Amino acid sequence: MYLCVNFMVESEDKLSEMRFSALLERLATGESPGREGWRLLLTALSGEQDCRLRRCASEVARRNFGNGIYIRGLIEISSCCRNDCYYCGLRRSNRQASRYRLTADEILDCCREGDRLGFGTFVLQGGEDNAQSDEWLADVVRAIRSEFPERAITLSVGERSEEAYRKFRRAGADRYLLRHETRNAEHYARLHPSAMRLDRRLHCLEVLKRLGFQTGAGMMVGTPWQTVDCLLDDIAFLEELEPEMIGMGPFIPAAHTPLARYSSGSVALTLRLVALMRLRFPGALIPATTALATLDPAGRKAAVLAGANVVMPNLSPLAVRGKYSIYDSKAYTGSEAAESLGLLQRELESIGYTIVYGRGDALSSERRQTDRILI
Ligand code: SF4
Repeated sequence: MYLCVNFMVESEDKLSEMRFSALLERLATGESPGREGWRLLLTALSGEQDCRLRRCASEVARRNFGNGIYIRGLIEISSCCRNDCYYCGLRRSNRQASRYRLTADEILDCCREGDRLGFGTFVLQGGEDNAQSDEWLADVVRAIRSEFPERAITLSVGERSEEAYRKFRRAGADRYLLRHETRNAEHYARLHPSAMRLDRRLHCLEVLKRLGFQTGAGMMVGTPWQTVDCLLDDIAFLEELEPEMIGMGPFIPAAHTPLARYSSGSVALTLRLVALMRLRFPGALIPATTALATLDPAGRKAAVLAGANVVMPNLSPLAVRGKYSIYDSKAYTGSEAAESLGLLQRELESIGYTIVYGRGDALSSERRQTDRILI
């Protein structure tokens, strides 16, 4: 099991117990600790406080979701992308990347398999692939919706026009994941080519919320040049957007990319962010990301014990699973595989949790609870 650690992002004085309790109390009553409060929570916790933070976060998750962990069937529909993000193995300049795109029939077959296995949500994720047009994708969503009316459909296919998002919504998509990765404009500019614009990404998120998607944002933790202030900008943005889903994974370098030689992000810092976001957003859907499980075999369990409540096993056809290589050594076997739910169940049972086979929507604000359990 992942140990609670005492780590310091930057050199800061330790937080007094009294101040720490006051910050937890603010979170418990639904208030933001404010930028300086967040800074202390990110940088100045003792090992013991870090453990207490995670315990509080997992208790809040249990109050809201019981001991159930939602599963999503992840279908990686295309490894082609028109973008060139410096950190991503699928960037268009990477000539070593294996490219594929699934047909509509292949995607529907994946959904049938997912349905047989009991998945309540299908997640269609892919690069920004011009060959998978808005109309084509809307048709695929429509076909899934008509064959599986009870299942939730999540899309994660990047930046598209408002009209495209509207089409997807009308076709029956319920949720949309679009991690912003970093809310700091300078940092964003160091991770992306100039043709990519942070304001466009933020606009997309605003549109998705407005159109009624359960919307997912989130950030990579430990990317090169990320500072504590970058993370504080991320948290401020999440507080403003109030997304239903928050995805956070450690940066993992990908071969043949400009950032290939940089070190991975910190698992401990990612777990702390998971715990903090659980306390700030009690009803949110927060995945134990594959990136965490890739960096640390105990990472998924540690994330659940820090308040994560979603796992996304891979439901893509076996023949392409190794090809969706956004970073090196990405886990897609064992309990990361949709056909190995028994393994995942045993892993979750070992820490007192169980798989939930439902749609697993985010909780509305009326149903969220913190119940002052932190105080
Ligand atoms: S991160 Fe997404 S948008 Fe950027 S290159 Fe990779 S797949 Fe494309």
